[in-house]
Amino acid sequence: MDTLELDPRLRHASTFLGRSPKMLIDGRMVGALSSKTFEVVNPATGAVIANVPEGDKADVDLAVAAARRTFDSGVWAKVSPSEKSRILWRVADLVERDLEELAELESIDNGKPYAVARVADLPLVVDMFRYMGGWATKLGGRTIPWSLPGQFLSYTMKEPVGVVGQIIPWNFPLLMAAWKIAPALAAGCTVVLKAAEQTPMTALRLAEIIQEAEVPAGVVNILTGFGETAGAALAAHPDVDKIAFTGSTEVGKLIVQAAAGNLKKVSLELGGKSPAIILPDADVDAAIAGAANAIFFNHGQCCCAGSRLFAHKKVYDKIVAGVADIAAKIKVGPGLDPATEMGPLVSDEQFARVTRYIKSGREQGAKVAVGGERVGNLGYFVAPTVFENTKPDMQIITEEIFGPVVCAMPFEDDDLDRIGREANDTSYGLAASVWTTNGGTAHKLAQRIRSGTVWINCHNVFDASLPFGGYKQSGWGREMGEEVFHNYTETKAITAAL
Ligand code: NAP
Ligand code: MG
Repeated sequence: MDTLELDPRLRHASTFLGRSPKMLIDGRMVGALSSKTFEVVNPATGAVIANVPEGDKADVDLAVAAARRTFDSGVWAKVSPSEKSRILWRVADLVERDLEELAELESIDNGKPYAVARVADLPLVVDMFRYMGGWATKLGGRTIPWSLPGQFLSYTMKEPVGVVGQIIPWNFPLLMAAWKIAPALAAGCTVVLKAAEQTPMTALRLAEIIQEAEVPAGVVNILTGFGETAGAALAAHPDVDKIAFTGSTEVGKLIVQAAAGNLKKVSLELGGKSPAIILPDADVDAAIAGAANAIFFNHGQCCCAGSRLFAHKKVYDKIVAGVADIAAKIKVGPGLDPATEMGPLVSDEQFARVTRYIKSGREQGAKVAVGGERVGNLGYFVAPTVFENTKPDMQIITEEIFGPVVCAMPFEDDDLDRIGREANDTSYGLAASVWTTNGGTAHKLAQRIRSGTVWINCHNVFDASLPFGGYKQSGWGREMGEEVFHNYTETKAITAAL
């Protein structure tokens, strides 16, 4: 471990980082069968912060066998709904107890400011386990009225879909794990989750918490490893009944192909190119702050980031100048520095991707109003960037950048149908925000937008109770809220002749 360079500002997380974090398979904390590990890097410095197990197909096979056996033998099914609630609440309590440690891990692993992890990611994680714990006692079916001749009693039951494979990204590492694991457990499924290779730390710490919360062995299995090996093996595994994936649209399509072998159920939460639409009667100051937050929160590494900024020509100049002014003042630095408002991008790969898009925007004729540069020469920092003069066919408009880069475009008229059509001119349909002081206009425009979420005078606000997911190529199915149980339950219809 003496090769690790731990940041002296870490107050809670060094112990965990120092103890060679392990995966959770069948109730035991284990290394990879191959004994291989891979390096985890702090994106603020490029320094190695840990070596974690490189799970591959063999480890996936073990984990799936444990989840399968646990599911089929009814280990989790026999735990009463209220006891399931209690267990999920226990996980929430333990996450809450270790909030600072988990926020530090998230910050040095993903790059996000500690304060953001502490006040945004972690409370949502806690809430997700509590909210889904509440559903464990409420997932019932209904009685069904009959029309045809004869007397029958029909009712439905909600049953768990079975063994669930879950593959998550690096942008909200622990929160994505919570979005996946909590509802699956409430529904009575058993789980094999693979963390993103860039950000495995909090998933491995959660594995310890799940042990401490006395989740029965084999019910939750947590692996670290690479997408092309461990992820692909999980997606293709014949004993997995359902796969839940969050990540790129490109890999989402691979998941669908891999799932075809045993026709496992699939839910996908993929990319986006979400518009923030500012109407001429908007509260301009609120819209400026909101549009800036829509793109710069989490360094633009949000699937629902407001990456296309549409403003009516009457307010366009003011809005762009205001967003550019905020961008110029954002303090970019390491996540553990208390003054930092925006950290580094997650990895060298993501840094290369975002800077490539900035270059492409310039080459295709867009104008940089602010930013467009690397910050410093250590770590993966990119300045918050605002592009003007963007055109619908530019790569920076059609493709997801997943970085702190917003593309501004004016619109000319007040025809809501036309505004809606422009906003919908994308292969994605994850989210949108509408900024206006006219309630009627807001709801009329919301109805014209083809996306799973529409925010009015806000952006990037979440609650465990709200379904979230995409139209079009932004995905299949919904996460969170009651809707998530479509992903994790089967409906059984039972009919008795009376
Ligand atoms: P990604 O490759 O789609 O990764 C997401 C998850 O899928 C990771 O756990 C990844 O493992 C795994 N994976 C990769 N290839 C796989 C395969 N063939 N079979 C099964 N699982 C596989 O995303 P990324 O490379 O990290 O980021 C690329 C782009 O995806 C981003 O720039 C962004 O546009 C988009 N993205 C979207 C979201 C979202 O919330 N919708 C989140 C992250 C990224 P590894 O980590 O080992 O690759
Ligand atoms: Mg990848």
